[in-house]
Amino acid sequence: MYVQGCRSRCRGALVYGLMCLWLASAFAGETSTSPPRTTSAVWSVHATPARLVNGAPVFFQVTAPAALQSLTSTWLGHALTFDHAQGKNWFALAGISLETQPGSVPLVLEGITESGARVTFRRNFVIARAKYPTVQLTVSKQFTEPNPEQQEKIKQDQDIKHKTFSQTSPGLEWSGGFLAPVNAPVSDVFGTRRVFNGQTKSVHQGLDYRVPPATPVAAVNRGIVLLAQPLYFEGDCVVLDHGQGLLTLYLHLSKIHVKAGDQVERGQVIGLSGATGRATGPHLHVAVRWQGVYLDPAALLRLPLPESTVVRSPSAH
Ligand SMILES: [Zn+2]
Repeated sequence: MYVQGCRSRCRGALVYGLMCLWLASAFAGETSTSPPRTTSAVWSVHATPARLVNGAPVFFQVTAPAALQSLTSTWLGHALTFDHAQGKNWFALAGISLETQPGSVPLVLEGITESGARVTFRRNFVIARAKYPTVQLTVSKQFTEPNPEQQEKIKQDQDIKHKTFSQTSPGLEWSGGFLAPVNAPVSDVFGTRRVFNGQTKSVHQGLDYRVPPATPVAAVNRGIVLLAQPLYFEGDCVVLDHGQGLLTLYLHLSKIHVKAGDQVERGQVIGLSGATGRATGPHLHVAVRWQGVYLDPAALLRLPLPESTVVRSPSAH
């Protein structure tokens, strides 16, 4: 129902101008030899990038054996939200958690044809292990040993974040490739194991850019503002919802230019960088979250993705 609802809402508004080019390039290297289980026609399933690793996003393109009214799927325990592209073609952005072990994992597809028949297909993909670094860091004690008042604030923030992350839109917002939020060098990559003051261990769940304070920060893609407010660890923080379960987070800002509910375009300035919250100095921390899983923003920025011309209607949100 999830996908079907979106499809009917988006039908006629979703046009992929680059579809021919996209399919030609995407399926040129198709190597699937698995026979379809319940249909005689052929499924085509393609994942980008070609090498899948833990912590990375993955873009699935599916050509079904028949015209479908909906396409759903399970992938690593997640329900995927496929959107209809054109004809028998469907697509979804998904991810692979950092904790995912190397090995072969199935993408299990289930489509409902226009006549109401159920068609299924299963294709396995190999997940390789990505290597991530370890660093030692020193931060102010209030962030490793917060007092009761600070702990209360942290608890309140957790409730706010839980609420924010549970209200993602089923509608499609992103269009085309994701762009870097600032034009600056990267100071810390995703996946770094961090040891704070020799004690608290965590994994860096975003990408840090070395930027001076008050540098304009741009939305990496089209989206809806889910949250725009100060939080204890994150500092002044903006969360954007790009649809298909994909969010981006912008932390430690000195100024926020948007408010919850705003629609933003790719490249639109959403705030200014800073050093608010748990920051060792001025920088921009950008995170990518998909269905509760943090993914490598750098890998998302590298993904070639098709442009769409989704015409937004106020009723869609
Ligand atoms: Zn960071």
